[in-house]
Amino acid sequence: MGMDYPENEKRSLNFIEAIIEEDLRNNKNESRVHTRFPPEPNGYLHIGHAKSICLNFGLAEEYNGLCNLRFDDTNPEKEDTEYVDSIMEDIRWLGFKWNGEPLYASDYFDQLYKWAVVLIKAGKAYVDDQPQELISEQRGVPTRPGVESPYRNRGVEENLDLLERMKNGEFPNGAKVLRAKIDMASPNMHLRDPIMYRILHQEHHRTGNKWCIYPMYDWAHGQSDYLEGITHSICTLEFEIHRPLYDWFLDQIVEEGTYRPRQIEFARLNLSYTVMSKRKLLELVESGIVNGWDDPRMPTISGYRRRGYTPESIRNFADRIGIAKRDNVIDVGLLEFSVREHLNQIAPRVFAVLDPVKVVITNYPEGQVEEMEIINNPENPEDGSRKIPFSREIYIERNDFMEDPPKKFFRMGPGREVRLKGAYIVKCEDYIKDENGKITEIHCTYDPETKSGGSGAGRKVKGTLHWVSVAHAFDAEVRLYDRLFMDEDPAGHKDKDFKEFLNPESLKVLQHCKMEPSLKNAKAGDKFQFQRLGYFCVDPDSTDNHLVFNRTVPLRDSWTKKNK
Ligand code: ATP
Ligand code: MG
Repeated sequence: MGMDYPENEKRSLNFIEAIIEEDLRNNKNESRVHTRFPPEPNGYLHIGHAKSICLNFGLAEEYNGLCNLRFDDTNPEKEDTEYVDSIMEDIRWLGFKWNGEPLYASDYFDQLYKWAVVLIKAGKAYVDDQPQELISEQRGVPTRPGVESPYRNRGVEENLDLLERMKNGEFPNGAKVLRAKIDMASPNMHLRDPIMYRILHQEHHRTGNKWCIYPMYDWAHGQSDYLEGITHSICTLEFEIHRPLYDWFLDQIVEEGTYRPRQIEFARLNLSYTVMSKRKLLELVESGIVNGWDDPRMPTISGYRRRGYTPESIRNFADRIGIAKRDNVIDVGLLEFSVREHLNQIAPRVFAVLDPVKVVITNYPEGQVEEMEIINNPENPEDGSRKIPFSREIYIERNDFMEDPPKKFFRMGPGREVRLKGAYIVKCEDYIKDENGKITEIHCTYDPETKSGGSGAGRKVKGTLHWVSVAHAFDAEVRLYDRLFMDEDPAGHKDKDFKEFLNPESLKVLQHCKMEPSLKNAKAGDKFQFQRLGYFCVDPDSTDNHLVFNRTVPLRDSWTKKNK
């Protein structure tokens, strides 16, 4: 059986909500709540980003506030408009709406430059001619003071002149940097004169060739928050150590006692059996191990969408896992549970036979067809019912038959009776094998008194099988997806590459699967429960004459069982 997870209960405030409510009580920042989601457009969004999106946009909804979408586009080497577009599509699909137009850190490059000049004039920043490696070396270790740069005490005029010339493109990449002048002895390494600007002669996807100096993350982020009126700047735990620098930069430009944003850190999402870093995901894409960022095996939002996950299931998952202050790993089974739970409510039940074997019902009149009425979704009576044609020749699943079944095999075997779902009870009388011992045909008789919904429907047999009529079924392709990795923590092995743990069976493609006729008109994205098999959705690769179904998730979690 699947894992049991408690029903959603009314939960108490998480620690970020507690901070916000305290701020509201104190009328801080005029009691506004304004968050932002700040992706770097250097890859597609993954399920970890979904957690951050649900948190930031969710808090804005909860407190009648606003949430900005801000592209953190300070690193032109890795960024691309393809990523910008996919990020917007994914956020919309999750069901969130950002405040106004999408924003870009690059919109603030002029203002950031002006503030850099302010810092230089205040004696708080200087141009350093040393190479970055030497600068890193001089920072030293937290337990001992670092070494001050020989350029640290340059005069204001010289610094202003050099920064301007850096901006004007007079120096090659790496020749100079602008550094904040803070404290080379601080136990917090981020305060040891951090770099604010680097020279990078590189075209930017928005600013073109206007700039050849680009701000570092720490210099750009807090000031962008400030410019946008952000009140609560929520980020993941690895930025906790950056917070003093975030505050130091704001101290230089914000007047004491006025509005200022506050950085709050929470634990990032880690999922078992999953790699989440964009660098590793890009490697999977570029090496062709998966078929693009939206491959249904990828932990990207676009991958989950293509696989058949719903926005609701991802939002419910984010709700369930909650917000923590300490790093942890969430069982990927919980995500799968959340998608099953939602699909169970919304997915119509249909008949599809993936590995067919033919059954002839020898006492059923040749040429006769009966339309069997089948309920679409017992969880949702409003979905009504549909008719499925039944005839003398049907397909069942090959593994629903055994020549010599054990007692507890409640499916088809010689002399045994089963119910064909929504139709009749049949009894297996005989079967035919080819020269290789493969079963090619099964012969049954049916009991006309046992039609489902009729007066004889009450007779009970142990097994119920799904089926489709040979003459009425059509062929489709089915892609059976499974977890991409076989190891719980593929990226967590010191001497092994994460790609060593790929699951060789993460994709199995089946052709000539037999589908009930009502599926003929299914459209890309439509979701179904294939009875007794799992949840499936129509892949965008489908054409009118060739439907492709992706397995979203099997009906039950087989991984927990395997591992026990
Ligand atoms: P990665 O480490 O996967 O490359 P990133 O942190 O570099 O991701 P960004 O585009 O900078 O990616 O992230 C945008 C926002 O999403 C940031 O606020 C970041 O903290 C958050 N975020 C990224 N990964 C996770 C995660 N696993 N769980 C929760 N939030 C995350
Ligand atoms: Mg980042």
